[in-house]
Amino acid sequence: MQTDKPLRLFFALSCPSDLADAICNWRDSHALGGRPVAQANLHMTLAFLGNQPATAVDGLKQLADSLRVDAFLLQLDQLQMIGKNFACLTPSLSPSPLIDLVGQLHAGLSAYGVVLDSRPFLPHVTLSRQVHALPTIEPRAFRWAVNHFGLYLSENTAQGAHYTELASWSLAAPSR
Ligand code: ATP
Ligand code: MG
Repeated sequence: MQTDKPLRLFFALSCPSDLADAICNWRDSHALGGRPVAQANLHMTLAFLGNQPATAVDGLKQLADSLRVDAFLLQLDQLQMIGKNFACLTPSLSPSPLIDLVGQLHAGLSAYGVVLDSRPFLPHVTLSRQVHALPTIEPRAFRWAVNHFGLYLSENTAQGAHYTELASWSLAAPSR
């Protein structure tokens, strides 16, 4: 890897393949239109870092090593239009470990000197872009047992965005 080229980075929850399969089957059976996100790319962004020097990656990994957050269950139960006509699945309730994870990440990244987007965190999984109008359908609740998060490199390719997992971290089993 070239060390002088900036890397477009983000921390995210990558959608497990069986869940991504179920979500995409549901999406495709309801003809949302627009530009569907590739099944392998379904994710929830926790923190978008934008372009960073490759030399920052080790420090970012150390930062994530120090986070302590419980695993949690996420229920994606709403279909919403977000931003520039992105059709997204969202949770009607954000579990506290998710808020905690994002809070710890954002605080650590700010201390590390990363300038984050000023918009408040809005948990979502983008299903399709450039959607004209959402069909009036009730999404079923997709249950996602979240037990790890990762640091991803985003690259533009002729086939569209390609994400590479640079590292991943387990979330602790919740104490009873
Ligand atoms: P493309 O932009 O090539 O269509 P993409 O949006 O999937 O593909 P990126 O732009 O690299 O790829 O974004 C990676 C992730 O970070 C996506 O989930 C995207 O929504 C999110 N993201 C991008 N920019 C921001 C931002 N300014 N604030 C918060 N999240 C962002
Ligand atoms: Mg983008």
